[in-house]
Amino acid sequence: MKHVTLPCGEAVAALGQGTWHLGDDPARRREEIASIRRGIDLGMTLIDTAEMYGEGRAEALVGEAIEGRRDEVFIVSKVYPHNASRRSMPISCDNSLNRLRVDAIDLYLLHWQGAVPLAETVEAFEALRRAGKIRHWGVSNLDTALMRDLYDVPAGAAVQTDQVLYNLSRRGIEWDLLPWLRERRIPVMAYSPLEEGRLLRRRGLVEFAKRHGMTPAQVAIAWLLARDDVIAIPKTGNRTRLEENARSLEHRLTTAQLQELDALFPPPTRASPLEMI
Ligand code: NDP
Repeated sequence: MKHVTLPCGEAVAALGQGTWHLGDDPARRREEIASIRRGIDLGMTLIDTAEMYGEGRAEALVGEAIEGRRDEVFIVSKVYPHNASRRSMPISCDNSLNRLRVDAIDLYLLHWQGAVPLAETVEAFEALRRAGKIRHWGVSNLDTALMRDLYDVPAGAAVQTDQVLYNLSRRGIEWDLLPWLRERRIPVMAYSPLEEGRLLRRRGLVEFAKRHGMTPAQVAIAWLLARDDVIAIPKTGNRTRLEENARSLEHRLTTAQLQELDALFPPPTRASPLEMI
């Protein structure tokens, strides 16, 4: 497995597993759990979840899937913005820990910025860290201006990642956010790397994949993993697709292939607001 180093010095799997919508359909539960376990076998040990996903259902499913394998995985979960306060965050965190059946969350993220001031959220994160309930913290969906604000609050520079929408068809962050994070050695965690599956039907990508002996999902993931400081977290609840996605690591895109993809999915030519799903 390829690894990405967080600012704290810890190396995590560059290819992880998303979990949004896992646990929604009871008929798929067994396969979804088997898929997460297969992912861990293949080195996709970073698992991304959130209290929001199925209002706790996804975390509970992850808890079941990692039973007996706690030491192999790196758990990322997220707190709702309205719970990111001094008073509510400890309750949210305890609920997540109970559902996940673990003693500590490895990386706890602010899901997006809401009404609670960033300084208070950071204070709450740091208190949880001192209490041993989280090991590290980070943010999600923060644009460059908000990242600057975060960096200015006390202990704000302890942020470990910004999890944002990033895939071949959503390259806006390359203009300003990615360089800003790169300067500070903060990796990006790219969510919806397959554009929730829609990217896989884009004709240009389908043809490129066929020409180069890959599947569209493998191209989309390999493109993200071509960068040293990007972690990709595709979601699937299906072992066959999970294995297909894991094989992205076998494909190192060449400079010529990256240029071809730039022509199909052009990089940004000006600043644009951070996109979200
Ligand atoms: P993805 O881009 O990961 O796409 C997931 C979809 O693609 C699912 O429908 C899945 O179906 C399908 N899929 C996966 N692999 C393949 C494949 N090889 N071939 C065909 N179809 C495939 O979307 P997500 O929005 O789920 O993003 C990934 C993760 O990022 C989330 O699960 C979540 O953990 C995180 N996220 C974070 C957000 C934030 O605000 N911080 C916002 C959105 C996502 P199936 O499961 O049936 O295989």
